[in-house]
Amino acid sequence: MAENTRDPHETDGAGASPVPPGKHLREEYAQLAEQVRAHRTAYYQEAAPTISDAEFDALFRRLEELEALHPELVSHDSPTQEVGGDVSSAFAPVAHLQRMYSLEDVFSLDELTVWLDRARATVEQRSPGSPVSWLTELKIDGLAVNLLYRDGELVRAATRGDGVTGEDITHNVLTIASIPRRLTGKGIPHEVEVRGEVFIPSEEFTQLNERMVAAGKAPFANPRNAAAGSLRQKDPAMTAERPLDMCVHGIGARTGLDAETQSGTYALLKEWGLPTSPYFRVLEGQAAVVGFIEHYGSNRHGLLHEIDGIVVKVDSFALQRALGHTSRVPRWAVAFKYPPEEVNTTLLDILVNVGRTGRVTPFGLMEPVKVAGSTVSMATLHNQAVVKAKGVLIGDVVVLRKAGDVIPEIVGPVVALRDARKVREFVMPTECPSCGTPLQPAKEGDVDIRCPNAKSCPSQLRERIFHLAGRGAFDIEALGWEAAIALTQPAEPAVPPITTEAQIFSLTPEMLAGVRIERDRKVKGVVTGCELVPYFYSKGTAKKPSEPNANTRKLFTELEKAKRQPLWRVLVALSIRHVGPTASRSLATAFGSMERIRAAGEEELAGVDGVGPTIAAALREWFEEEWHREILDAWSAAGVRMEDDVDESRPRTLEGLTVVVTGSLATYNRDEAKEAIILRGGKAAGSVSKKTSYVVAGENAGTKFEKAETLGVPVLDEDGFLRLLEQGPDPERTIPDP
Ligand code: NAD
Repeated sequence: MAENTRDPHETDGAGASPVPPGKHLREEYAQLAEQVRAHRTAYYQEAAPTISDAEFDALFRRLEELEALHPELVSHDSPTQEVGGDVSSAFAPVAHLQRMYSLEDVFSLDELTVWLDRARATVEQRSPGSPVSWLTELKIDGLAVNLLYRDGELVRAATRGDGVTGEDITHNVLTIASIPRRLTGKGIPHEVEVRGEVFIPSEEFTQLNERMVAAGKAPFANPRNAAAGSLRQKDPAMTAERPLDMCVHGIGARTGLDAETQSGTYALLKEWGLPTSPYFRVLEGQAAVVGFIEHYGSNRHGLLHEIDGIVVKVDSFALQRALGHTSRVPRWAVAFKYPPEEVNTTLLDILVNVGRTGRVTPFGLMEPVKVAGSTVSMATLHNQAVVKAKGVLIGDVVVLRKAGDVIPEIVGPVVALRDARKVREFVMPTECPSCGTPLQPAKEGDVDIRCPNAKSCPSQLRERIFHLAGRGAFDIEALGWEAAIALTQPAEPAVPPITTEAQIFSLTPEMLAGVRIERDRKVKGVVTGCELVPYFYSKGTAKKPSEPNANTRKLFTELEKAKRQPLWRVLVALSIRHVGPTASRSLATAFGSMERIRAAGEEELAGVDGVGPTIAAALREWFEEEWHREILDAWSAAGVRMEDDVDESRPRTLEGLTVVVTGSLATYNRDEAKEAIILRGGKAAGSVSKKTSYVVAGENAGTKFEKAETLGVPVLDEDGFLRLLEQGPDPERTIPDP
């Protein structure tokens, strides 16, 4: 196969500048080449990169651009002509029987289309009339290895190195369970080089880093570095402790192996016991290739391993040979890279937030950075134990990851860049940063720390106010995050208009007239300081007095509307621990009014479908607090509806009765049956106790029916239930004992 230093197929000089590069450009080029080499050393030899892959790719692209513009800059040792990664002296050098290559990258579907068209055209030129099938597979984010099998025996394993010479890592590779020492099955070739990617499965990575930090070692910045660091250990016993796995994606030199396609080879390798990928496809046509790329673009998580793109290969070996290689990459394969989900940024500080239930959560404040389509400057660190486990220090350069819609996460520090003089450890505060109350664990030995001042801690109040206005509660759009701050922690006046959520429905526009918040003062778009500005009112001028602004007018309209929300939303708005929309709906359906929920015993509450003992205990605990009851009294006095509408036209035949429905009925589904009970003044419970008045047993009634019999609770069939709804209790109608 011909290998040329400069590939005319790629840079035929078409875009080259006729003007020779000047001194500045030569300097830029030399510096860039040096940078790329240094980053490659950190990445391949030390498994400790100091910049993100996306930043590296940008440097590499710039180098390629300069070379395309000025082909005279290209020398044989340019990074664009080499497969990255020298061989470390820590390992014995191994010459690969057949050279290993890197892959050409494309970063958009347009670039991919250009690449596919070009490859197609070259095939047509060199092998006219040959159809092209595309083998599409996942680009595993690990490190390449070359396994040499002779007569089925694994005789050597090496890293890719510079593509010609790799590092002998045989002893380490032998510790990887999924790599067979002996191939089994029929047709084992005399000799074959099997190429693949060694990786750390996504699920194992977090635990591995936790173990590293606990042992006082630096954590890995990502699974790829963890795999590289683990495989290139001097002591194979260390490698054996790491959860390494492998996936095969090609072959090199071979004798006695008959296969015409790459996919056919995978089938053979699989038969011989090698780990092949479950995800590859052989596709015809560009649209199918694009479909594959798009599919994994939106489903790239939850796979066995991390991926950073898709590799598209010409499946036929004959056509692969016809296309050949450059000195760095094959011309029959391309890597489509997904937009980066990992970037590096500086962790400026670790602050704590006090949540709605008093839980104190540390979060990282970072130099704002763009990742996966949005600018991120904050990421939760969950609790003290997580900060410790991640091994991050304030001032570190950290790897920030934002996987699709998932919330951003600080993966870990870039330890190689740590400057001991500029970093400090995070210390969890012992007092609430919002109200100064000493913090305490929620329970003995709990990692979560809480501020116990639930009633008047301004942070907790602000979070509760924000929550009660949320879509799943009172749905007050005009009461967003900033308004919640303005109401609870305004810069002026000293005492905010709201010191408990009891006051929310008794607010008046006049009470908000003096509320000011701090804003950046800008002169021609430049921040020059800060100033206090009215939040709920217009600024006002000599001619036009200050008045409630549009958002404030909307706030009062929405507060009026909120008073008529159904009971379950009022329950959600109360921020009772564990009581979310599902439990609230069940409670509202079962009891119909706040008064009844308040009067219900713990067992009765726990008996409601979807409630259970934890929520029941949280409810009882909540109602025992006097200031909580004051909230309800104040809301009720302000006109908030505390019970769901009862249809007065229906007779309240079930007043005081608790009914459990089990099995399926012909007339009602489960929810309708419950509603029918509540509409007639009864309680619809989910489990049977001594307090249950009736159990309605439909078809396939199970244990509840049996329990009713044991406890002696009357059981009704469907007819009996319909009569009960209509006429009220009639003991004669229970199913008679057999
Ligand atoms: P590459 O990782 O982009 O692609 C080539 C490699 O992909 C192959 O050698 C193989 O190991 C791997 N691969 C994974 N799945 C494959 C599959 N299904 N089929 C074939 N090969 C598959 O190229 P590279 O030269 O190894 O590394 C370059 C990349 O490494 C850069 O794009 C950059 O993202 C990263 N890098 C980062 C730094 C840094 O400082 N952050 C430095 C150097 C390199």
